[in-house]
Amino acid sequence: MISIDEETIFSVIATKNPRSVALSGPDALMHKIQRSAEKIAELYHIPAYIIGDNSWGSCDLNTHAAEVVGADILFNIGHTISMKTFGDKVVMIDAYDDISFENIATKCALELKRQNIHNISLVTSSQHLCAIDRVKEIFEEQGYNVVIGRGKGQLNEAQVFGCEFYPAYDVQKSVDAYIFLGQSVFHSAGIAIATQKPTFMLDPYFEEFSDVSDIASKLQKKAILSVYKSLDASSIGIIIGIKEGQFAHLKALNLKKTFENLGKSVQLIVMNEITDERIRIFTGIDVFVQVACPRISTDNHFHKPMLSVPQALSLIKLLKKEPVENFMQITHWL
Ligand code: SF4
Repeated sequence: MISIDEETIFSVIATKNPRSVALSGPDALMHKIQRSAEKIAELYHIPAYIIGDNSWGSCDLNTHAAEVVGADILFNIGHTISMKTFGDKVVMIDAYDDISFENIATKCALELKRQNIHNISLVTSSQHLCAIDRVKEIFEEQGYNVVIGRGKGQLNEAQVFGCEFYPAYDVQKSVDAYIFLGQSVFHSAGIAIATQKPTFMLDPYFEEFSDVSDIASKLQKKAILSVYKSLDASSIGIIIGIKEGQFAHLKALNLKKTFENLGKSVQLIVMNEITDERIRIFTGIDVFVQVACPRISTDNHFHKPMLSVPQALSLIKLLKKEPVENFMQITHWL
């Protein structure tokens, strides 16, 4: 069961004495966030605004919404990172899942031995970070060499984002495979693409583990195909996302200049949520490049090519007749 670290919320409120607070977090946690907001209102008699928009990660805190309602503190819940606060107003609140990996980790450890896998690295997303130590012990008891990659930037050790893989990428030479703790194909496929190593996802709820290589390979092929489909484009729409941690205005301007030097016409578009439905309103654009979240391009469906930054950089290389290699095998897809 996932629990929000409400003790920290209450302690911050008691110390800072805000006139009002806002709470933001992933959709899957919204029912729990609602209960936390009720408790805050009951205990402290202050408004607790629940921000109903998506919060995809620490790149998407919803600070603007908190500012508009005048909240003194914004609690962003469920996106554990190495930093506890952003500025004076944003406090990151952990939400850990205490589900046991005991059975599935043991089952996986016994099976992978038969596949000649001996050196592994454990990786996960925020809610299962608390399970890493125990799963490490389970694999070590079965004779594995277990490597835990170091954190970097906002990432804790063993942690990955959907677009950022330092702890996995940096240890790839020492491991035969990655074991991802949790139900996220999104994160585990990202690791498999970035490292090109077998990546197994441990699902503690269904007590199953699966190799995500096929899914990763399909995503990668789709990403490469979009680049090649964009070669003949004459007009490009460059989309600047306005979520605070995804805002890459200068990158967009640099890409614009480069594409224009290559004879393309470019329009700059500013958006919050980048969806196929929204881009259908634009006419006369052959290809879109979005500089916000790379996974929007790799994972979502668009009726026209929608390139992320690494894809756009590859397209530029192709247009310049330069070699393009392994553009997704990098630590950060930005
Ligand atoms: S994958 Fe997208 S949502 Fe996740 S951290 Fe990266 S930019 Fe943010």
